[in-house]
Amino acid sequence: MRTKLIAGNWKMNLGKAESITLAGEIRQKAPKTTKSQVLLIPSFVHIDAVAQVVSKSHLLLGAQDVYYERSGAFTGEVSPEMLLEIGVSHVLVGHSERRHVIGETDAVLNKKVLAASAEKLVVIYCVGETLEERNAGRAAEVILHQLKTGLANLSHDVIAMGHLVIAYEPVWAIGTGQTATPAHAQETHAFIRARLSEIVSPELAGQIRIQYGGSVKKSNAAELLSQPDVDGLLIGGASLIADEFVAIIQAAEGV
Ligand code: PEP
Repeated sequence: MRTKLIAGNWKMNLGKAESITLAGEIRQKAPKTTKSQVLLIPSFVHIDAVAQVVSKSHLLLGAQDVYYERSGAFTGEVSPEMLLEIGVSHVLVGHSERRHVIGETDAVLNKKVLAASAEKLVVIYCVGETLEERNAGRAAEVILHQLKTGLANLSHDVIAMGHLVIAYEPVWAIGTGQTATPAHAQETHAFIRARLSEIVSPELAGQIRIQYGGSVKKSNAAELLSQPDVDGLLIGGASLIADEFVAIIQAAEGV
């Protein structure tokens, strides 16, 4: 049984006071979950403030990115150790905005996956095709390439410890209001799990959680989560509204 992971990626949104208020509302209103874990991913500068709010609660704390070196002359970057010290347990690696807006390469993303997981952070490694790639019939090829390059040389121990999560986020569905149908999500998640079986092993692939992301809302969460290979959700826009995010958490409990 894979515990579902419901994650809110706040992206570059919310000031300090707004971040504290949102985390406080979620802490107060979200049910104590039994079937799922709930993760808040604020912007770097407000992680510490949000950490104070979620301290000693059932809410987990994540970062939107991480660097692959431990310390040194890497201006502007944040190391895995720095994140661990302030209570972060999960990091996003390879979010489509990092790939396509910031321009991170496969090689850089692989270094981040290896460095963060070596420090025992749970890595949420994001994959997904653009609209252009989808229309060209290249979605499967693109996702396979992202899996192979991003996870190269990853130790099987990391996976066995549950420290690898995959997020399938079709780029055409992120922030567009256009969601993959539950059937499409299931088909792609099953494809990802089959490829993970080949890349790692069938046993480990069966343990890896695969989240769906792309315009998830309270109105479509339950149906997406009811798919057998959808093991959680990565939510952008809807995670900025406490009642919407809490309703999605409730949906995960009800599935
Ligand atoms: C995301 O940020 O990963 C995301 C899926 O955004 P949205 O839910 O707004 O589409």
